[in-house]
Amino acid sequence: MSVSSLESASESNSENILKNHWTIEDSEQLYQIQGWGDPYFSINRAGHITVSPQGDRGTSLDLYQLVEALRKRNIGLPVLIRFPEILADRVERLYACFDRAISRYNYPGTYRGVFPIKCNQHRHLVESLVEFGQRHQLGLEVGSKPELMIALASLNPSQFNQKKEEKSLLICNGYKDQEYIETAILSRRLGYETIIVVEQLEELALIQSVSAELNIKPVIGVRAKLSTRGTGRWGSSTGDRAKFGLTIWQILEVVKILESSQKLDCLQLLHFHVGSQVSSISVIKEAIREAAQIYVELSHLGANLNYLDVGGGLAVDYDGSKTNKNNASKNYNMQNYANDIVAEIKEACEQAEIPAPTIISESGRAIASHQGVLIFDVLGSSEQPIIPPPVVEEEEHLIIRNLWETYALINEENYQEAYHDAIQFKQEAISLFNFSYLSLKARARAEQLYWACCNKIFEIIKNQENVTEELQELAKVLTSIYYINLSVFQSSPDHWAIDQLFPIMPIHRLNENPSQRAILADLTCDSDGKISQFINPKGKLPKNFLELHPLENNQPYYIGMFMVGAYQEIMGNLHNLFGDTNVVHIRTHPQGYKIEQFVRGDTISEVLEQTQYSGEALLENLRRHTEQALEKDLISLAESRHLLKNYERSLSHYTYLKKED
Ligand SMILES: *Cc1c(COP(=O)(O)O)cnc(C)c1O
Repeated sequence: MSVSSLESASESNSENILKNHWTIEDSEQLYQIQGWGDPYFSINRAGHITVSPQGDRGTSLDLYQLVEALRKRNIGLPVLIRFPEILADRVERLYACFDRAISRYNYPGTYRGVFPIKCNQHRHLVESLVEFGQRHQLGLEVGSKPELMIALASLNPSQFNQKKEEKSLLICNGYKDQEYIETAILSRRLGYETIIVVEQLEELALIQSVSAELNIKPVIGVRAKLSTRGTGRWGSSTGDRAKFGLTIWQILEVVKILESSQKLDCLQLLHFHVGSQVSSISVIKEAIREAAQIYVELSHLGANLNYLDVGGGLAVDYDGSKTNKNNASKNYNMQNYANDIVAEIKEACEQAEIPAPTIISESGRAIASHQGVLIFDVLGSSEQPIIPPPVVEEEEHLIIRNLWETYALINEENYQEAYHDAIQFKQEAISLFNFSYLSLKARARAEQLYWACCNKIFEIIKNQENVTEELQELAKVLTSIYYINLSVFQSSPDHWAIDQLFPIMPIHRLNENPSQRAILADLTCDSDGKISQFINPKGKLPKNFLELHPLENNQPYYIGMFMVGAYQEIMGNLHNLFGDTNVVHIRTHPQGYKIEQFVRGDTISEVLEQTQYSGEALLENLRRHTEQALEKDLISLAESRHLLKNYERSLSHYTYLKKED
């Protein structure tokens, strides 16, 4: 190939790089937003993410503009935005799916949902949920004494004389002591349909003695250890070695004990829970089949069962792939879930000729995930520059012309070979340099060409699945680091602890080519404080980079982490003393939106207090130290004033960084 034809090859190539053909459709595909975000999140013509909190109905709002508006109100990043209307929409959907399943299969019973508080206990969220859930009598599930206390004070007790079906369900799981059981039983007097689920045999005696003492008849459930094995991360929530629940012989023991004290009519509920984020419908089906059979048999033994509580486990689609290949997705939708549960229970009861139970489900993740969106900014980056290859002159050194030719001819077929050539030519160039056959400038050109080859090869391999190990290494080297204003330990603990994937993407500039391949490094001084695994549109193994835009001078760059509404907030920790983030609740109205709640994130003095420091005492210490330094003439009066002023002000500031703009 002649140099001139190579030059024209170079031109058309750099033209391609420079031309911005990127459209929002490209972004949709790249970030798989329809897969995980539909119907709540999409991209508008301006290249911003829009949020439609009521799904296909109602107002949508521009997330980028919302973040700008929050910042103008001095609500700094990172900020967790909750959309209570999404929460309401999730509840509506869940009920609608069960309603459809019930009419489709002519199910003679009803469905009741309860929200497991452990998924997100924050007051504003629970209050919204109770408010929205009222029309469906959405109940609550608690797993500890503090959660029971939240539920008792948050649920709306029904009016007296109401029918059982109209009372708010309060399901009490978890290990219990006397006080827990007393409180639970007494709560029936408030008009709650409180059900105490026996997780351990010893709890039964306690329930019996407390109810005799209080002279209130309890409603009792049993949690069964199914033999159906869950899969994935929480697979061990069931099975013989499960931490919770009663084995079949223990359940029979419960029946025997209750029968002998003529209290068998108290046993009304059978519960099981196969673990969270169950990605395969077959696991759910198998579990429900086993549980329905246990239900039938217990009924035959004379138990007065009328609730079958199928627990949680309804998964969400974090990567939008609709597969069960990894824990980030699921191979079924909410309707399939409801259909299978209703159909299996109906069939078992019909065959056994027993009345169909009220079906209860305890979905947490499926209700609370979507409403929480975490927005954070990028503080800086170490980007790998996309080097345009230098124009090569005819008289240049052979080694440079070789590299240039390698670069120009890289294609889908020969890239592996070309990579080896590029490495070899670069090494040769360095040897030539070491023996002074090549100038420093020429060596720089050789290296530039080498990286241009790498970039071009990477463009080819980045969409391929089976990439050799050495090229995977290359991909790693070409990845930039974006420094984000966030603590993974505080805001996405499951990513750090159990490799949970969340959809992450920029919320603006989505009509520009995101030419950088990046991993995210957080603020903590911990090498685990990073995000280097991202959802893969194809539902295959996670990607180890995220496509992001090159940072623009002095322009903020906002990234959203989506579907973080379940579990992340409460499990976050204070590593490096980065505290709770700011939280806002946004509700839409036909003309736009309003900020319904603002919960200020932790200040520095608040996180210090959690480690037993008092801001005042620390300040006093520092004052003493500056006095000593002043005495010894180590610091000027102006400097000491500056230091103390900063210190004092910082105490009331956010723990995250503030980027001036
Ligand atoms: C955690 C838990 C749930 C919630 O599970 P999700 O998968 O979030 O729906 C429901 N029931 C029990 C008993 C639980 O422990």
